[in-house]
Amino acid sequence: MQALYQANDEIEAQLLCDWLGASHVRATVLGRYQSAAAGELPALQFPMVWVLEDDDVQRARQLLEEFLSRRAGAQPGVPWCCTCGTEVEAGFDLCWHCGRGRSE
Ligand SMILES: [Zn+2]
Repeated sequence: MQALYQANDEIEAQLLCDWLGASHVRATVLGRYQSAAAGELPALQFPMVWVLEDDDVQRARQLLEEFLSRRAGAQPGVPWCCTCGTEVEAGFDLCWHCGRGRSE
């Protein structure tokens, strides 16, 4: 298991997890309820996304880049609804559920 990305909040962490999961990369979010390690100052805990299988790490990094670049280019907007009925975040042009595009 390897750490992939420190998210700014749980929503972002969960979105990334779902994004990875849609590409069959098993990931999990840790750190939400962890207290600071002994001897350290209590720090604000940001959720960390971990990749469960070491073999998936390289693929996960590619997906992470895609995730971040899509989000950076995203219009701050409302989620859109795919023809399959899935609600998709505004930053994504493809439905994570069925893979169809926004305009299809
Ligand atoms: Zn869909």
